[in-house]
Amino acid sequence: MFYQVSKEDEYLFKGKRKRLVEVLKLKGIKSQTVLSAIEKIPRHLFFDNTTARPALLDHAYSDKALPIGAGQTISHPYTVAFQTEQLDIKAGEKVLEIGTGCGYQTAVLIEVGAKVYSIERQKTLHDKTKLFLPYIGYSSAKLVYGDGYKGLPQFAPFDKIIVTAGAPYIPNDLLLQLNIGGIMLIPIGEGDTQEMIWLHKISHNSFNKKVLGNFKFVPLLQNKATGY
Ligand code: SAH
Repeated sequence: MFYQVSKEDEYLFKGKRKRLVEVLKLKGIKSQTVLSAIEKIPRHLFFDNTTARPALLDHAYSDKALPIGAGQTISHPYTVAFQTEQLDIKAGEKVLEIGTGCGYQTAVLIEVGAKVYSIERQKTLHDKTKLFLPYIGYSSAKLVYGDGYKGLPQFAPFDKIIVTAGAPYIPNDLLLQLNIGGIMLIPIGEGDTQEMIWLHKISHNSFNKKVLGNFKFVPLLQNKATGY
């Protein structure tokens, strides 16, 4: 079912990953733990398993968003690196991810030491990623099929929350499920681009907020998907 990993691939793609890390450094990523995670994780294995694969493999380590099935895309490596760096994760912290997708961001969070809980509303993507992540050695994440707007109250509070789709507003349930002292990164906006919002929870009902530039995401949609 999944692309088989060969020794030759590993050699070829290792070099490509090193170059991607150089690109990310030039774009401003500084965290060594984040860069090491990107250097280690085989991004070329995360794509949609279709006839498009040969073309996609060529682009696996360019800074691009690429299809992962169910009409969704894997985020740009820079976006993944940027959001992870801004979360400032310490080993053992509980992190809630909204939008599991192909699990690439999930793997990066695991590599930087997080205990990850991740929600995906597309059943096909959830099912596939639930098999795939353990297949490549990432079995610690709790992957849930559900609606990210609601978060996971049964596992709250979370030290960090990362939303990986563009939201029209900040869901209140997510604010409630963030620990005091915690950080949330969420792209806000319904148009072509979203503003990356950084929130730091300083008490039950007060937050520091920063706007960290413009990014491009697929939309955060309401409810579980139907029809796939
Ligand atoms: N982190 C992912 C990014 C995937 S794109 C990766 O590294 O591949 C964003 C994902 O968010 C898509 O898979 C989309 O189906 C999912 N999504 C959109 N709205 C959602 C919601 N309300 N709850 C959970 N997932 C959602």
